[in-house]
Amino acid sequence: MIEIKDLHKSYKMGSNSLHVLKGINFSVQEGELVSIMGSSGSGKSTLLNILGMLDEADSGSYTLDGLPIKNLNEKIAARYRNKFLGFIFQSFNLISYKSALDNVALPLYYQGVKRSERIDIAMAYLEKVGLAKWSGHLPNELSGGQKQRVAIARALASNPKVLLADEPTGALDTKTSYEVMDLIQGINDEGRTILVVTHEHDIAQMTKRIVNLKDGLIIDDTKVDQIRALSNV
Ligand code: ATP
Ligand code: MG
Repeated sequence: MIEIKDLHKSYKMGSNSLHVLKGINFSVQEGELVSIMGSSGSGKSTLLNILGMLDEADSGSYTLDGLPIKNLNEKIAARYRNKFLGFIFQSFNLISYKSALDNVALPLYYQGVKRSERIDIAMAYLEKVGLAKWSGHLPNELSGGQKQRVAIARALASNPKVLLADEPTGALDTKTSYEVMDLIQGINDEGRTILVVTHEHDIAQMTKRIVNLKDGLIIDDTKVDQIRALSNV
């Protein structure tokens, strides 16, 4: 599903340059649930943004579902993003003046789905995340966990092949974090490929594979021992 080879990324600031990704190689098969760990500043979000086609690497290759992601014009990039990728962020990124239902329906608007159909699909995803009753509420009338569920429903609404989550539990308390990860596990059980950036070990243990970034390189890539993970909770 995802294949990256020798990926490099630097940020240029004036005459200085910060080399953040220094030759990343990894691949993710369809249906995997992978966490990306590493200390603050290690390049986790940089990597996720490249995988999400929100940013481009300086060199190396990235193939998404067999398609080389390079030098795409913005129109094609946007089409790929819509078709392949769903995003979940630490700060939820919901639109404050739109109801939960309208937030979830928004990606479908950009895909040209007509309104009655958008509402049906969005409602079905709100039900899936257990928030059907809250469909008319604005984001500021929802708890953090509920907001993240709305954001997850929104990410799923366009039926992407891959979900990319950058610290999805970063703004939540421990119990709510586990609930959100339960939901993410359930979505993965249905076969969707999911990458979760986190710096919390407990959260990473709830995925199936942990990739560790340090100094711009992957220093460890391990399958999670599910039995050990359960006994740690
Ligand atoms: P955190 O756990 O704090 O979210 P991270 O692993 O996600 O950290 P990145 O956000 O990928 O780290 O940042 C990696 C490095 O690149 C940091 O030193 C950061 O300051 C720098 N950086 C990130 N984005 C930019 C940017 N747009 N311009 C310049 N430097 C940047
Ligand atoms: Mg980050």
